[in-house]
Amino acid sequence: MIYRKKGSRGGVKKEPLLQVIDLVKHFPIRKGVFGKVVNHVKAVDGVSFTIHRGETLGLAGESGCGKTTVGRVILRLLEATRGEVYFNGSPNLLTLSQKEMRPYRKKMQIIFQDPYSSLNPRLTVGSTLSEPIKVFKLASSREETRRRCAELLNWVGLEEQHLSRYPHEFSGGQRQRIGIARALSVQPELIIADEPVSALDVSIQGQIINLLMDLKERLGLSYLFVAHDLSVVRHISDRVAIMYLGRIVELAETEPLFQAPKHPYTRALLEAVPVPDPFTKKKRILLEGDVPDPIDPPSGCHFHPRCHYRFDPCDKEDPRLIPIGERTVACHLYDPRHNSAIPETILDVPPPAKLSAG
Ligand code: SF4
Repeated sequence: MIYRKKGSRGGVKKEPLLQVIDLVKHFPIRKGVFGKVVNHVKAVDGVSFTIHRGETLGLAGESGCGKTTVGRVILRLLEATRGEVYFNGSPNLLTLSQKEMRPYRKKMQIIFQDPYSSLNPRLTVGSTLSEPIKVFKLASSREETRRRCAELLNWVGLEEQHLSRYPHEFSGGQRQRIGIARALSVQPELIIADEPVSALDVSIQGQIINLLMDLKERLGLSYLFVAHDLSVVRHISDRVAIMYLGRIVELAETEPLFQAPKHPYTRALLEAVPVPDPFTKKKRILLEGDVPDPIDPPSGCHFHPRCHYRFDPCDKEDPRLIPIGERTVACHLYDPRHNSAIPETILDVPPPAKLSAG
């Protein structure tokens, strides 16, 4: 896979575009004829982050960690249990009526994982692209609508002649290009890309990632890029948030996070990525066991049953997010309140005192 180089964001003023504060989504589990709620799946459990204008924030983690749910709740495709979401100075989007939400739907679009099931097989590409243009009154005539649709196809590497064709006439990669064109049709500022390449052949993945990066620069877009493939996340993201069982455990700029992960879960995830050089030997911390049941997550730190570094407070107390320079880490190892409780035997992670310097 040949990727293009990431554009430099050096010197760009950080202007918050999307702010997510303490987002929670619990799915009720109902039983019996009356549908009594007997429990909840805690898919998202207090997630907070900011995406700046022109930035790509990668959201990564094992499947079932809640990353896809975060994107859908932000767009109100799923209703949140609680939390706050602000887009470019808006009121809390989670409190708006469907009508009040409409202008923000135009500004925030989604690209789905499966380009085939997200396109209506009975609509031509032209109809798929022109529908949102008509709904949001973005063209004044049929001629202008057609011109805009042709331009959208051109942006994503397809041609005007494709407007009259149906989704089944395209390859997977081409269908994802159509999905991207549809998202762009309403001139969004933020795109939530939900595993946009994981259903594609490896040979096509690089082309779609490069296309997304080109479009970001050309149109000044920002992305929330949701994916489990860490090499893809590393390539496209300016910053990365790692999720585990409904919570963000580490959030940092991409290269510092990949070169020196701080959270034990981030370290284990990165060490599980295969190294293409057979002569490179790494000291691995293996991720043992499965992700626990989100209906009944472990007490304290959700990662404690799988963590090689767990110590006294880990199964009792939720770790708070500790700022370390530009990053935040939710782990008791870095919490100065627990310094004295860290056993000597687990200190092959840099001790918290050293970390606070960088
Ligand atoms: Fe491991 Fe404890 Fe840190 Fe959780 S808080 S990651 S269990 S050391």
